[in-house]
Amino acid sequence: MDKIKVGILGSTGSVGQRYVSMLSNHPWFEIAALSASGASAGKSYREAVRWVLDKEMPAEQGAMKIIAADAAEMKKAKVDLVFSALPSEVAKIVEAQMVDAGLVVVADTSAHRMDTDVPLLIPEVNGDHLAAVEGKKGKGYIVTGPNCTTIGLAMSLKPVQMKFGLKRVLVSTMQALSGAGFYGVPSMAIIDNLIPHIKGEEEKVAQEMLKILGDFRSGFKFADFKIGASCHRVGVLDGHTEAVFMETATDATPADIADCMVNFKAEPQRLSLPSAPVQPIIVRNEPDRPQPRLDRLSGSPDRAKGMATVVGRIREEPALDRGIKYVVLSHNTIRGAAGNAILIAEMLRAKRML
Ligand code: NAP
Repeated sequence: MDKIKVGILGSTGSVGQRYVSMLSNHPWFEIAALSASGASAGKSYREAVRWVLDKEMPAEQGAMKIIAADAAEMKKAKVDLVFSALPSEVAKIVEAQMVDAGLVVVADTSAHRMDTDVPLLIPEVNGDHLAAVEGKKGKGYIVTGPNCTTIGLAMSLKPVQMKFGLKRVLVSTMQALSGAGFYGVPSMAIIDNLIPHIKGEEEKVAQEMLKILGDFRSGFKFADFKIGASCHRVGVLDGHTEAVFMETATDATPADIADCMVNFKAEPQRLSLPSAPVQPIIVRNEPDRPQPRLDRLSGSPDRAKGMATVVGRIREEPALDRGIKYVVLSHNTIRGAAGNAILIAEMLRAKRML
C-alpha cells in the first residue's frame, strides 16, 4: 500500500514538532512538506526549529527544506492532506486556501472549530460527526480537533453521558506550559507561581464540549447539559490536569462511573487504528494519581503513548445532586493536539475519505 503524502503547517512550533516526531515512520503517512512562517521558509528544518522534544529530531525531516504556508507549494509537493498547527489568526485564511485547492485539512487550530459544516472531532467520542464531510472526497474539506483542554474532559464524559446522562459539569483546570507554545509564558511569570487566566479558554471548553457531545444528523445539534470552566496555567511542562464535578441525570455510584470509563471502547479501537490507544480511558485507583509527570505518557501500543486519558479519584460529591467528582489528565500536545489529529487522519483513511 502506498503511503499518503502529508504536509504540516506550523511544523516548527510546539505542536508542529509533535507531528514531525509522530509522523516520521508512520505506517500510513509520509511527510512530504514542512511549512512555517516566512522567516523560516527556505531554511532546512534543522536550522529553523528550536527543537524542544526529548526524542531526537528525525534526521530525514531535519534535512527537509521549509516551504511557505501556501497551497500551491503543498500541491507541488503532491500532498493530499495537510495538518495545521498554525496560530489561529493565520489559520483562518490559510486553511481555507488549502481547502479551495482541493486538500483535506486536519486542524488543531480554533479558526474553524465552530463552523456549521466542520466536524470538531475526537475519534472515540464523536466519530459519527464525520458524516458532515461525507461526499467531499476530492473537493477539499476541514476536520478540526478541539482545544487541548476539551479533549481529555470530553473523553471522560462520553461514557458517562451514554450510560447515565449529564445534567451539569463544572471543571477547574491546571494546564501545562506547552499549551501556550514555546514563547507563550515567560519563565519569570510562572516559576513560583500560577496564572489564573487563559484568554478565551473557558468559553472554548464550554462551547466545544456541547458541539462534541451533541448529535449530527442533517446539522449539528448541541448537547443540552450545563457546563462551566475555570482555567489556570501551572508550572508543568506537558499534561493538562482537570478537577471535574458533575451531576448525572440518573443514579450512578463512583464504582459505576469507573466501570463505564474502563469499559469504554469505540471505532478507533475496533478498527485497530495505528495511533489508537488499546484502552482510551485508564482509571487509577491510587489516592494520589493521575499526576502529569507519571501518567501523561500512558497508552499502549508504543505509537499510542500519550493518547490515553487517565482518570483518578472518582468519588461522590454530596454538595451536588447525584454529584460525582474526579480528576482527569491528558497530554496536551499529543492527545490534545497532534496525536488526536493523526488519529482523525487514520480514521479518514480507514473510511476511504481521503
Ligand atoms: P507555536 O509553538 O507558537 O508555533 C506556531 C507555528 O506557526 C510555528 O511553526 C510558526 O513558524 C508558524 N507560524 C507563525 N506565524 C506564521 C505565519 N504567519 N505563517 C505561517 N506559519 C506561521 O504554537 P503551538 O503551541 O504549536 O500551537 C499551534 C496551534 O495549535 C495554535 O492554533 C494553538 O492554539 C493550537 N493548539 C495548541 C495546543 C498545545 O498544546 N500547544 C493544543 C491544541 C491546539 P516559525 O517557527 O517560523 O515562527
